[in-house]
Amino acid sequence: MQPALVNTTIKQGSAEMKYILILAVAVLVAACGPSGQDGETSPIAQTDIDSVIGKLLEQHGSEHEFRITRGVNQTAALWRRADGDPEAFETFCLQRFIADREELDLVFDRLAVNFEYLFGYMGRIGFELKRRIHEDRGPIHPVDQIFAAYNPSAHVQQDLFGNKIAFIITLNFPNYSLEEKNELGKEWSDRQWGYARLGDLFTARVPARIIQENSKVYSEAQLYISEYNIYAGQLRDEQGRQLFPEGMKLLSHWNIRDEIKSNYGQPRGLPKQEMLYRVMLRIINQDIPVQVINSPGFQWNPQTNELFKEGEALPAQPEGVTRYQHLLNNFHSMQRLDPYYPNLNTYIKRRFESGMEIPREEVKRLFKEYAASPLIRETAELISLRLGRPLRPFDLWYNGFVGRAGISEENLSRITQSRYPDARSMNDDLPRILRDLGYERKTAELIASKIEVDPARGSGHAYGASMREMPSHLRTRIGADGMDYKGYNIAVHEFGHNVEQTISLHRVNNPFISGVPNTAFTEALAFMFQKRDLQLLGIQQRDPMMEHLEVLNIFWDNYEMMGVSLVDMMVWEWLYEHSKADARRLKEAVIRIAREVWNEYYADVFGEKDIPLLAIYSHMIQSPLYLMNYPYGRLIMYQLEDYIKGRDFAKETLRMFSIGRVTPEHWMHRAVGEQISNQPIFTAAEKALKAMR
Ligand SMILES: [Zn+2]
Repeated sequence: MQPALVNTTIKQGSAEMKYILILAVAVLVAACGPSGQDGETSPIAQTDIDSVIGKLLEQHGSEHEFRITRGVNQTAALWRRADGDPEAFETFCLQRFIADREELDLVFDRLAVNFEYLFGYMGRIGFELKRRIHEDRGPIHPVDQIFAAYNPSAHVQQDLFGNKIAFIITLNFPNYSLEEKNELGKEWSDRQWGYARLGDLFTARVPARIIQENSKVYSEAQLYISEYNIYAGQLRDEQGRQLFPEGMKLLSHWNIRDEIKSNYGQPRGLPKQEMLYRVMLRIINQDIPVQVINSPGFQWNPQTNELFKEGEALPAQPEGVTRYQHLLNNFHSMQRLDPYYPNLNTYIKRRFESGMEIPREEVKRLFKEYAASPLIRETAELISLRLGRPLRPFDLWYNGFVGRAGISEENLSRITQSRYPDARSMNDDLPRILRDLGYERKTAELIASKIEVDPARGSGHAYGASMREMPSHLRTRIGADGMDYKGYNIAVHEFGHNVEQTISLHRVNNPFISGVPNTAFTEALAFMFQKRDLQLLGIQQRDPMMEHLEVLNIFWDNYEMMGVSLVDMMVWEWLYEHSKADARRLKEAVIRIAREVWNEYYADVFGEKDIPLLAIYSHMIQSPLYLMNYPYGRLIMYQLEDYIKGRDFAKETLRMFSIGRVTPEHWMHRAVGEQISNQPIFTAAEKALKAMR
């Protein structure tokens, strides 16, 4: 029950959140600032830039050359007509460049304190205004929804450009590329990392109308996906039989996949899985009849693509290219941002170099190595043996490796429901959970005091604090008769996020490096907690195979994730190479790429070629280039677990998550002394496979 496919952590202090905040901020600039092409580009010519650099060098000496050159260039790129003419630009640079070390330190400290208050309280206000939507506090009034959608910090970025604090930062705290951070960062102290992270804050100034257009495109794609339901009860097989219960509604692709998963070992499970697999292929190929999307009014045979209404055959109208049109729209909207990012002029660069901070080539190399591993082939043989049949493509979602220490989920729920009848009881138990994981009493109490448990409306999430004076929140679903096992399992996962959020906020050197390098790192600790959920209920693992089963479960799961992620990446590469393509050509390309990845890494495992199944993920359409975070979270978890084995869990996690938001390369080096690799999970899988034999 790992909530792997929902973004379960909301962290205000993270790089991505700041990015989103800044983007959201600029939306309102349109109403007040200059509009049209004129106000959108820098009026500062190269000759002006060179002249300012020359004067500053003369004034302060060549030992400041790097900071001067980069600072002036970066400031010029973000300068707009409304900020002043080239003369005002020169005056600003000459007056505001800080050559003196002590003064620079002083300004850094002022910014650290003030930004923690500014962004901290803004985050806090936003958090409070969303409470009634996030927490189960009775009916939602329309006014609650308006408050939840309201962004109190919407004008902050504009204000910081207006009063030129943003420019003081761009002029004095250089923005480094990922390559530079990885190279120069070896020598940096935590404080110097803070300088570098401050330099990441203002790197683009996107016109408001573009941001407005983009958020419209983005929400249209979200809406398209959120309403893409298949009524499984209306599906028919060749004999006209209905295999699924009336009214069963499956949101693509998540619920369809989960339904495939839950049919392993079930009576009539295989024909149901085959049927859902056909549905997926029809969605990918877009020959699915539009009539059956989000509508229970028709009966449909996904195998033959025949459509019926009350026994009468009807002509099916294929969906066509809508799915790919949304992806294409997302591409065009991201492409519109490109010219405003001087150094990160493609969405691909922004996702990998600034969002994830791992080079794309490295991600691809790791995924390909994983997917090609002979251990995958061995695992596949084992699955085939357990199923008693050759593998089918949908066995990508085989879930027969899960076990619960021989205790049924029902019995586990009985235990968790009596232990946690309400949020309060879980809240009171947090220090004990931490002590059981090995944290010293004082540390356990301190961390637990910074975390509050609330009953969630949705499945749950961890909402990180935006400032030290605020607790982070663990949102989890609690039924009328208490927390069931599923809720508990998710709660322990979210608690892991909260512990990371607390350590990486309170124990770092300065607020600019609070947090972790990227989403995958917080997922790693969440998975580590979640893995220990039974132990925390005092249940000893009687079945020695349990751990091996779990390894294979994750090992297989990651294989699927890496495939869909490779397709996602290759599609975006294709898009940038064919930026004039229409939705029809994009559709052909996605299907071709999905088949190519399949043929290279999956066809030998599943015994069938040219299957486009890896193109089914909805993330590709609504949140492009996000998927790679999931398998990375698991790889990092194995690496940390491997290191911690035989060491002190509490001491080591405290140490690692106090490193802060350096780049993944430096974080891994400081945490475990090596880089992210497939080796630890390979070793674990090899051991598990041996034990299973
Ligand atoms: Zn999570």
